[in-house]
Amino acid sequence: MLKTVLDSVSHILFPWLCNGCGSDLVNKHHLLCLQCTEHLHETGFASLPGNPVEKALWGRLGFRAAMSQYYFSKNALLQQLIHQFKYKGNRELGIYFGKLMGATIRSAWHDTMPDALIPLPLFPDKERKRGYNQAALLCEGMATILNVPVVYDAVRRVRYTSTQTHKTRMERWQNVEGVFVASANNTIKDKHILLVDDVITTGATMEACGNAILEDVPGVKISIATLAYAAL
Ligand SMILES: [Zn+2]
Repeated sequence: MLKTVLDSVSHILFPWLCNGCGSDLVNKHHLLCLQCTEHLHETGFASLPGNPVEKALWGRLGFRAAMSQYYFSKNALLQQLIHQFKYKGNRELGIYFGKLMGATIRSAWHDTMPDALIPLPLFPDKERKRGYNQAALLCEGMATILNVPVVYDAVRRVRYTSTQTHKTRMERWQNVEGVFVASANNTIKDKHILLVDDVITTGATMEACGNAILEDVPGVKISIATLAYAAL
């Protein structure tokens, strides 16, 4: 009761605003209003075996399941929101999106539930400058819904890579070859892990990271989850 009253008072003093459009929010636990939520296009991939993300990775990486939560399109709301939690320090938004992904996976992947979540690592210098890894924020949100640990040191990024954005499919693959190394003292042996990133395009980065883990960690199985899917 007291908490409800305090919440109402603080709402008047510090209104909860939608991270998408700035309108007043009714519930502080939802960072986006209904209208903005409706503007994000869910893919439904989690309950669609053979979905476009899985097809993109077939023959390149052995995996159990792959999903993306939303379709990515340039200049749309999702791009702006990803920018907020990737570059502008809006960590809460990254964790919020992670929770939504976790809820989708929990209801769709009954036989494929992962044992641990692994954020696709950034180059250490880049992470220091940014202050965090945006994929780790997604994992932290997912972990609260899926009740599985986030493992941060299972795989490292050992070489700096320039952005993949303006590269061709072949250039993207060459750009990330040998970039990832699995940790020698690995806690994910014989586990089913979920590799997590913000956006998947050609899947070249996922492929390189996943294969580095598969080569070096005995008995590990991999699934893939990203917030957004951008067809090249
Ligand atoms: Zn809104």
